[in-house]
Amino acid sequence: MGANVTDLFSSLEPQERRVFWVLQKQGPLSKNQLQQITGFKLTTLNRFLRPLEEKSLVIRSQFGKSSGGRKPALYDVNDRTYYILGADISRIYMKVVVTNLKMQVVLSRHFDMEETSTPEWTVKKITEVVKELLLTKVIDAKILLAGVGTVGPMDKPRGMLTSPRYFKAPGWHNVPISMLLESTLGCHVALDNGANTAVLAESLYGIGCGHDRVLYVNCGMGIRMGTFFDGALIHTAENEEDTFGHMVVNADGIRCACGKRGCLDCYASARAIAENFKRHREAGEGSTLPANAPWRDICMAATDDHLAKEMILRAAFYLNVGLSNLIGLLEPGLVILSGPLIQISTLYYQTVVKQANLLNYSHKNKTNFHRGGNFKGDAIAVGAAALALEEAIGVNTAISHV
Ligand SMILES: [Zn+2]
Repeated sequence: MGANVTDLFSSLEPQERRVFWVLQKQGPLSKNQLQQITGFKLTTLNRFLRPLEEKSLVIRSQFGKSSGGRKPALYDVNDRTYYILGADISRIYMKVVVTNLKMQVVLSRHFDMEETSTPEWTVKKITEVVKELLLTKVIDAKILLAGVGTVGPMDKPRGMLTSPRYFKAPGWHNVPISMLLESTLGCHVALDNGANTAVLAESLYGIGCGHDRVLYVNCGMGIRMGTFFDGALIHTAENEEDTFGHMVVNADGIRCACGKRGCLDCYASARAIAENFKRHREAGEGSTLPANAPWRDICMAATDDHLAKEMILRAAFYLNVGLSNLIGLLEPGLVILSGPLIQISTLYYQTVVKQANLLNYSHKNKTNFHRGGNFKGDAIAVGAAALALEEAIGVNTAISHV
């Protein structure tokens, strides 16, 4: 089902991969433009381009503007033959996308994760998406690579989920997910946590293009974060994505499941909004909603209901406490706020951004904010595909060797 990536990328010289990497990010380009970017002489560039064309990784795509005389040929990566699969495996849904080599999504499928959604079921569904691609979209498509963005903790070098919690189906402990997919798809499968793959997609191909440092903060039942820092993804030892969620924002605060007091998760997440609302209702405060109202209802009621509004403002305040610490430490050019809580509550998002802009962060370059990023709900899956390509090309050593 998959193409043999070993033949395609491992057999290329480092300079040939670099030319591919430049074209993949900036193509279409003329030879003249390629020379200016890479610094190669024309004869050298021709030598590096030849194997890329022979393997159909690069094609002459169109003609550029002439500055007098013949129009120059433009080169780009082949967006018709080779494809990359990206899967976003979460506890409640799975998103599978197929992209071309320009990271454009050609097929996207969504599945709910139920009590029967075991690792074997997941692999079967991903395989079916590839079959659908071959039957309905591109008959001679070759899946060159695949990537998975999912929840930690995980053993990234071994492509293994170790002890993720809260999957509805059994069997999700010590799952060699990369190996399971590699044996079915016949290509290399990269693995990382979903917040990291999302920040990679946005930093290389989305709203974060041009920023050296990007934070991707996903606000849902918990707070997850991915960090793109000077061209590299930052990883913890077990590749968890919830370390920001366990930053202490209230030293004498609520006891968190992790054992510490006052973690961000206990104040700024969707779960925290529902729990804090319940606590206030049971203490006798008035509201149009019952004490056990779901967080979505609290968000929707916040325009008219005083207590609901207070809970959203309080959660936004604490997210901003955490963010201001992070921004002071990392000085990102862009913070992308995403996830169901950001999608549903405009009040939450706008309060965070307003307070962040009021604080005069000390670093020289102002931090910008964006709601949702360019890839929206596809970010984790597209980023998984992007990670697979970066690791295979191996030019961006900061990403491929972490
Ligand atoms: Zn905690």
